[in-house]
Amino acid sequence: MKKYNFNAGPSILPREVIENTAKQILDFNGSGLSLAEISHRAKDFQPVVDEAEALIKELMELPQGYSVIFLGGGASLEFCMVPYNFLETKAAYLNTGTWAKKAIKEAKLFGEVVEVASSADANYTFIPKGWTCPKDVDYLHITTNNTIYGTEIRKDLDVEVPMIADMSSDIFSRPVDVSKYNCIYAGAQKNMSMAGVTVIILKTDALGKVSRQIPTMLDYRTHVDKGSMFNTPPVVPVYTALENLRWIKKMGGLKAMDALAKERAEIVYSEIDRNKLFRGTVAHEDRSLMNICFVMNPEYAELEKPFFEYATSMGMVGIKGHRSVGGFRASCYNAQTIEGVQALVKCMKEFEAKN
Ligand SMILES: *Cc1c(COP(=O)(O)O)cnc(C)c1O
Repeated sequence: MKKYNFNAGPSILPREVIENTAKQILDFNGSGLSLAEISHRAKDFQPVVDEAEALIKELMELPQGYSVIFLGGGASLEFCMVPYNFLETKAAYLNTGTWAKKAIKEAKLFGEVVEVASSADANYTFIPKGWTCPKDVDYLHITTNNTIYGTEIRKDLDVEVPMIADMSSDIFSRPVDVSKYNCIYAGAQKNMSMAGVTVIILKTDALGKVSRQIPTMLDYRTHVDKGSMFNTPPVVPVYTALENLRWIKKMGGLKAMDALAKERAEIVYSEIDRNKLFRGTVAHEDRSLMNICFVMNPEYAELEKPFFEYATSMGMVGIKGHRSVGGFRASCYNAQTIEGVQALVKCMKEFEAKN
């Protein structure tokens, strides 16, 4: 039976991206060697990094003066690298979920952290509004999409300080005004590639402003200066990212990704709102287009497990909600198809009819 992949991360990638990567793992550019067997400094591999970087600059319309680097360590390493490189005295953080909280914990090791607002007391079911950001901070850190709770800040905020954003689960899903950010980072395994690589976009002249010493590997300048080749980058995930970036471009770029995301989310949320069995878990205006969270209505609570089993029997994969929310989570990243979300909605309708 056809499987529909709603995993939150690692997660769905376009089939052709997987197939093209598989081919290169068997025989890289007809060299008779695997992509996994060659030096990252081989003349054939440098063009992979160069093209991936160029495609990010093109698709995200990076202004002059921004650099793109590929690192290991996941988004979690950036929770510490960001304050290491950007926090001199004080930074502001918006607390919108588990990942934001982890970023805050690391930042506190480096200086004063002002939590401008938090929805922790409401189990992160909304994005706080109406807060102000102090003007004397080095940056404001936000998490644009809260993968676990299913809320999203889908526009670039207007604040008077440079922003730094964890875009791990919604990068490349919409156009972004990069000029508002000193740094954007994203672990690859949600919406970009397989696990193992992190993409970091940096305003180059915002680097080198902190007075502390930074270990070489944790200093962004090291990687900017060496074009991500200071040490061995994760070559296969970088290659997969390149294939995915080519696919995004072919599909019409970030505007097209944005339109698709809206279309998919509309299909699922309108069914959640219509279907008597289910309800959404977060404030309507903050609903994530990437991670759609829903639970059984209280009077149908005992149907949670049966619905999960029914949906699984119909080919849905990865729809179990995160343990801190419960219920269900349908992750709808760039590669999620309209057919996939329609199949999920069909399950919801059929299950409602049976009950
Ligand atoms: C998954 C995720 C992370 C953690 O990513 P790792 O690559 O596992 O370190 C951080 N932030 C967000 C928003 C995520 O979705």
